Amino acid sequence: MTPPLPPGEILILGSGVFGLSTALALTQRPAFKSSKITVVDRSIFPAPDGSSIDTSRIIRPDYASPPYAHLASTAQSLWRTPSSPFSTAYTESGLVLVANTNSSGLPYVRDSFANVKALLPNPGDVEELRGRRAIEKEVGTGGGSGDWGYVNRRSGWADAEAGMRILRGMVEETGRVTFLTRTVTSLIYSSTTSTSTSTPSTSPRVLGAKFADGTSISADLVIAALGAWTPSLIDLRGRAQATGQVLCYLPLSAREQEELNSMPVLLNMSTGMFIIPPRNRVLKVACHGYGYSNPVSISIPTPEPEASRKVSVSIPRTATDDPNLWVPEEGERECRRALREMIPALADRPFTKSKICWYTDTPDGDFLITYHPSYSGLFLATGGSGHGYKFLPVIGEKIVDTIEGNCPEEFKNKWAWREEAVENVVTEDGSRGGKPGMVLDVEMGKGSKL
Ligand SMILES: Cc1cc2nc3c(=O)[nH]c(=O)nc-3n(C[C@H](O)[C@H](O)[C@H](O)COP(=O)(O)OP(=O)(O)OC[C@H]3O[C@@H](n4cnc5c(N)ncnc54)[C@H](O)[C@@H]3O)c2cc1C
Repeated sequence: MTPPLPPGEILILGSGVFGLSTALALTQRPAFKSSKITVVDRSIFPAPDGSSIDTSRIIRPDYASPPYAHLASTAQSLWRTPSSPFSTAYTESGLVLVANTNSSGLPYVRDSFANVKALLPNPGDVEELRGRRAIEKEVGTGGGSGDWGYVNRRSGWADAEAGMRILRGMVEETGRVTFLTRTVTSLIYSSTTSTSTSTPSTSPRVLGAKFADGTSISADLVIAALGAWTPSLIDLRGRAQATGQVLCYLPLSAREQEELNSMPVLLNMSTGMFIIPPRNRVLKVACHGYGYSNPVSISIPTPEPEASRKVSVSIPRTATDDPNLWVPEEGERECRRALREMIPALADRPFTKSKICWYTDTPDGDFLITYHPSYSGLFLATGGSGHGYKFLPVIGEKIVDTIEGNCPEEFKNKWAWREEAVENVVTEDGSRGGKPGMVLDVEMGKGSKL
């Protein structure tokens, strides 16, 4: 529900890719030149367990969906262009995208191949890899994955934390944004009839946010960009949920780093397993899968606290909550299998660090960028579904377009509030590997036999 624009006070909750890029875009719009903008995050920047902070993220226009392929391609040129502030965080290593024969990931890779061939018509940029031998030759590590795929030599990866530091610096430089380190415990709702729009509405209005230290801030517009934590503060059941994904890290010698410097990103859309070229002598093996849910019984704050009841919601569990957290054996085993297959020389090198990183998954992998249908003054900028980082240079602009009522036509349905809630949120965009339906505690309970 659109509040009167431009709002005098704008409160952005969360300073990941979605929150910070929105803050930057707002400072660049003349319409918002008088708005006071505040960004709140529970962690001092960079948030150690935020999804936007890590050694690396894949930057690719390789999507089965044409609108995402086009938008990612625009973002990619901003990562790549030497005069762009983001280019220092970007490496154009190439991406080898593969699938296993007769698997669910194959149609995604085929559609993606068609989309990037149209986007990158230069011969040599995109090349089909027919069979495992061609894949291994392109990867150059003595290993490979999958049976069919292609290489996009204009894709790459970004040092995720470096990209976020650049973005944060740009926002700070504007001098327009106040940053606060506070933990949001609830939104502030008013149940009174709102007469602030031309058509009076009876929907509760969001008036700001309350924090764990007992303080609060009021705002005319609250933008919820709390990543995987959003569903624990706003009821998104059946529309978005947190799923944990495994990452395992291993150290390399200087020589190994040198040897792997020129490898492309390798991503198998059937298994979900991927390896990004190492950075600072650390190699990461990870899974883009269905992930683990972490269902916990909580009360989601509502406009009528007395009516709120406990419901089951998947919430992130990270090293901030438990410093000894290690991935379940199932996840580590899959990472080991992938390492053995993709870089055989490192097959038995122990993982020295692991992490569970949290996606904000939606049923179809689309972002959730829209006004809340029931609470005026609340805008949702979330639902990254494991692929939001690459859009860092452009997503803030699209979020602010949508705030202004100008959501890009091709994303209007995709980013909208889904009318029908689904029973269980399982992202079915064709890109996920692994087993659906895994529960973190169940997998943890199986112990480690590794
Ligand atoms: C393992 C993994 C691999 C990925 N790989 C890729 C990739 O290769 N390419 C790609 O494009 N994308 C990738 N993604 C997806 C991408 O990283 C995310 O879509 C994106 O970073 C999400 O940004 P965000 O702003 O929504 O969330 P976040 O970055 O998590 O930001 C949310 C912020 O909210 C804060 N917060 C939470 N709760 C509270 C509270 N109560 N009060 C105040 N603040 C709070 C957190 O501290 C955090 O800083 C990956 C994600 C993961 C987890």
